[in-house]
Amino acid sequence: MRIDVVTIFPDYLAPLALSLPGKARDKGLLDLAVHDLRGWTTDRHHTVDDTPYGGGAGMVMKPEPWGRALDEVARGATIVFTTPSGEPFTQALAQELSGHEHLVFACGRYEGIDQRVVEHAATLGTVREISLGDYVLNGGEVAALAITEAVVRLLPGFMGNAESLAEESHVDGLLEYPVYTKPASWEGRDVPDVLLSGDHGRIAAWRRAEAQRRTAERRPDLLAATGVISGLADLDVR
Ligand code: SAM
Repeated sequence: MRIDVVTIFPDYLAPLALSLPGKARDKGLLDLAVHDLRGWTTDRHHTVDDTPYGGGAGMVMKPEPWGRALDEVARGATIVFTTPSGEPFTQALAQELSGHEHLVFACGRYEGIDQRVVEHAATLGTVREISLGDYVLNGGEVAALAITEAVVRLLPGFMGNAESLAEESHVDGLLEYPVYTKPASWEGRDVPDVLLSGDHGRIAAWRRAEAQRRTAERRPDLLAATGVISGLADLDVR
């Protein structure tokens, strides 16, 4: 997979060299480049913003540098505009994007990017407008980081143990069950007996029930979508 990030704060993306994305680069699964939008400005001050037409507070990112940047790095790509008015980012969307060959992140700042840039991008590749959640960040860099990390860990060959991906929160529509490690007793708190039983069938049933219970408590909206809500009365398998 190839990922290009266009931003006015390239240093913000430094963590991409670390941890998971860094590992994916080392394994040759990911080719990643971060670009400074100001490199596509033509004036002495490297201006990337201007006042909004129609008035109002704040500044808007100018179309010309964005147009030149995308012409150069985004032809044929899936171009992700990070924006609070985009489709919500989910595990399903991460899974979908992990199958794309080339992602380009356009990180907005100020009041956002001139809308004509999005229209122009649609002539170069496939546009996705994606939101990290229902809140407002200062810029799109954190969203690009989060989306990249969620996508890259799904690349085939990235995880040593692919099973750990299959059992995670949101993969089957449920939150993950609680997890424990040694010691079996700590500060007077014991690991549930079933996990020490060695009975794989009972362990799997307990985990499934705990995942459903936790999802019902914390995210009933998710449980309704999985259609398992009717089985909740039978959950006590301890
Ligand atoms: N005025 C914009 C609005 O109300 O929708 C918010 C602009 S925000 C201060 C600046 C930039 O941060 C946005 O252009 C976008 O790239 C990014 N951003 C902010 N919140 C985001 C979110 N929830 N998800 C993804 N990107 C976000």
